[in-house]
Amino acid sequence: MTDHTAAPTVAPTVAPHDQAQILAQAMPYIRKFHGKTLVIKYGGNAMTDPALQQAFAEDVVLLKLVGMNPVVVHGGGPQIETALKRLGKKGEFIQGMRVTDAETMEVVEWVLGGEVQQDIVGMINRAGGKAVGLTGRDGGLIRAKKLRLVDSQDPTKEHDVGQVGEIESIDPSILTCLQDDAFIPVVSPIGFGVNNESYNINADVVAAKLATVLQAEKLLMLTNIRGVLDKQGELLTELTPSRIDELCADGTISGGMIPKIAGALDAAKSGVNAVHIIDGRVPHAMLLEVLSEQAFGTMIRSR
Ligand code: ADP
Ligand code: MG
Repeated sequence: MTDHTAAPTVAPTVAPHDQAQILAQAMPYIRKFHGKTLVIKYGGNAMTDPALQQAFAEDVVLLKLVGMNPVVVHGGGPQIETALKRLGKKGEFIQGMRVTDAETMEVVEWVLGGEVQQDIVGMINRAGGKAVGLTGRDGGLIRAKKLRLVDSQDPTKEHDVGQVGEIESIDPSILTCLQDDAFIPVVSPIGFGVNNESYNINADVVAAKLATVLQAEKLLMLTNIRGVLDKQGELLTELTPSRIDELCADGTISGGMIPKIAGALDAAKSGVNAVHIIDGRVPHAMLLEVLSEQAFGTMIRSR
């Protein structure tokens, strides 16, 4: 690991005794998760607010330093929107999926695989880590094909969402290679098809699949809301598959929460021990989730 160049954002006001106690309390978690893989979906406000960005980068580096293997998968909805707007285009979504024509695909590749990914790599490196940016093309990581999006109400109907991909297979060898060294992989959610064509894949779907394939201990999805909310706007701290079905059926879960919850549930059912949708607006939310009893958000149960 390189020297720290950025000052840590830990509040300097914590009394030494309290600080020692806090550190000591983290020990059981460090021991429990040492050597384990954590897949982190980085999205929402945590991605656009500079103070939250720095806190996120520090958390990732700290988790790596204490022996865990974080893998970051990033989204970039707001950044794609801004780039499309500059071209006079407006984003369109069907069931939480971005309709991706050829021009939008070019923008997605350039914004996610270029700008956003490299920003995150830079931030983590600045916090003292060694991040490596990858798209699904690197090392043959994510093979994809065109998504067949079945209508959520009428299963006989399909939507054409252009170059939105669904994952066909994952070859995680590039990730395990990087993890075995001191590197922190940062993955952009772009897959490639049999003819080397690119696919825009929802980042939650990619994070969930990677967590499954890597047999991750945890999948943490940072978002721009407290967690999954019920009809009254109250936070649901725990969700079972049957409750998720109900909330999707009655429209309580909509938009970007649809692929997120579907991915989260898949991962939980496939053996990822802990799956949490957490509030990325809380500074160091990820650290609190991994190294303490504190939980901010919704835990997804496998049954
Ligand atoms: P990201 O993928 O960056 O975390 P998304 O916008 O794709 O963000 O997904 C999160 C959004 O899902 C929330 O901001 C909210 O608008 C929407 N959403 C829909 N249904 C719910 C729900 N029941 N609880 C919480 N958020 C929901
Ligand atoms: Mg989303």
